[in-house]
Amino acid sequence: MVYINENFTKLQGSYLFAEVSKRVKEYQQKNPSKKIIRLGIGDVTEPLPPSVIKGLEKAVYEMGEKETFQGYPPYEGYDFLRNIVAKVDFESRGVQISPEEIFISTGAKEDTANIQELFSINSRLAIPDPVYPVYVDSNVMAGRAGDFKDGRYDRVVYLPCTIDNNFSPALPGEKVDLIYLCFPNNPTGKALRREELKKWVDYARENGAIILFDAAYEAYIREEDIPHSIFEIEGAREVAIEFRSLSKTAGFTGTRCSYTIIPKSLVAFDKRGNKYGLNSLWLRRQSTKFNGVAYIIQKGAYQVFTEAGRREIKKIIDYYLENAKIIGNGIKSIGLSYSGGINSPYVWVKIPEGLTSWQFFDELLEKYQVVGTPGAGFGKCGEGYFRLTGFGKREDILEAVERLSKFKV
Ligand code: PLP
Repeated sequence: MVYINENFTKLQGSYLFAEVSKRVKEYQQKNPSKKIIRLGIGDVTEPLPPSVIKGLEKAVYEMGEKETFQGYPPYEGYDFLRNIVAKVDFESRGVQISPEEIFISTGAKEDTANIQELFSINSRLAIPDPVYPVYVDSNVMAGRAGDFKDGRYDRVVYLPCTIDNNFSPALPGEKVDLIYLCFPNNPTGKALRREELKKWVDYARENGAIILFDAAYEAYIREEDIPHSIFEIEGAREVAIEFRSLSKTAGFTGTRCSYTIIPKSLVAFDKRGNKYGLNSLWLRRQSTKFNGVAYIIQKGAYQVFTEAGRREIKKIIDYYLENAKIIGNGIKSIGLSYSGGINSPYVWVKIPEGLTSWQFFDELLEKYQVVGTPGAGFGKCGEGYFRLTGFGKREDILEAVERLSKFKV
C-alpha cells in the first residue's frame, strides 16, 4: 500500500473560483438571453505589448539557426535579463540590488509557493488575512500550518486586514519567523506607505524574522510615498526576499515570467547556529528542481524594461487603473465604501451590513448580471467584502457600473 502525504488532506477545498463559475453557469443556463459582465477577473485582458512581441519573434528565429540556438537556460536566468532588471527596477530607484541577487522564474505563484522549502518545518508563520491563498496552502502541503480548526490553521499567526486598521496589518502579538506580506495587496488593493513598511522591516530586524514580500502589483503604484520595493527601506537587505512578476505588469500571465530577489546579505541558521546564505540555498534548490525560463520568453521579457516597453506597459496599466477608478466611483455613487483601486487593479468593496459576501454575490448576479468575487474566499477577514477588478474591457466596465447604479443599499 502506498500512503499519501496527509498534509494534503488538511487543505481546504479551493472552492472559491469553482463555486463562482458554477453559480454563473447555472444562472446563464436559466437565463440564456441575459448578458453577464465579469468584474471579478483576476487575469489580464489586454494583449502583450508590441515591443514584447518583437522580442519574442526575433528569439523564435534565433532558435532556428545553428549559431544562435539555445539549449537549457541558466537556472537563475540569462544575464541580459538579470542585468536590465537590476538597472531599471532597482538602480534607477537608488536601490542596491546586483544581477546575482535576481533569479528569473516562471511565476510569482511558483516562487512564493516554493520558497518555504528553505525554512525549518518549525518556523512560525505570519500571514495576512484576507490574502492570496498560495502562501497558506503551500505551507499546509509542507506540514507547517498545523490543523484547521474554526476556519483557521492553528500554527499560523493571522494578520487581520480590515477597515478598522485601514487594511494595514498590525505587528504580530507573538514571535514569528516568516512573515508574508503582499503590497499592493490582492484582494484589498491596499498599498503600504514608507512608514508602514518600515515598521515591518524594523520588526524583522529586531526579532530575527524574514519577510517574504510579494510585489506582484508593484507596477500599479502611482502615488509618490509608496515604495515599489521593500529594498527601498533601509535594513531590508538583511531581512527580506521580494517576488516580482511580469504577469500583471506586462501581460505575461500566459507567457510566464517573474523574478525573485534574494540579497546575498540574507542569512538563516541551522540548529547548531551555523549561518547559511539564502541566495546560495535558493540557487541550490532551483538547480535541482527547476530548469530555467525559456530563452524566447526571457528575450520577450527583456523588452518590458526597454524605454519603448516601459512606455507601452504604462499605457496598459493606466487603462486598468482607469477601469478601477470608474468602478470605484460607481461604488461610491451607490453609497458603498471601498479601498484600493488607486495603486492597484483591485477594488475592495465593503458590502452592506446584514449580507454575507456570497449573498451579495447572488444579488449582483441575479439583479444586475454582474459578477465579482466574494471576499470570504480570501480568508475569514474577507467576509463582509467583495472584490471587483479593473481588468476587462472599458465598455463592459461602464455598462456594469450603469447597471449597478440602480443598486439600493
Ligand atoms: N502574487 C499575487 C499576490 C497574485 O495575485 C498573483 C496572481 O494573481 C500571483 C502572485 C501570481 O503571479 P504569477 O502569474 O507570476 O505566478
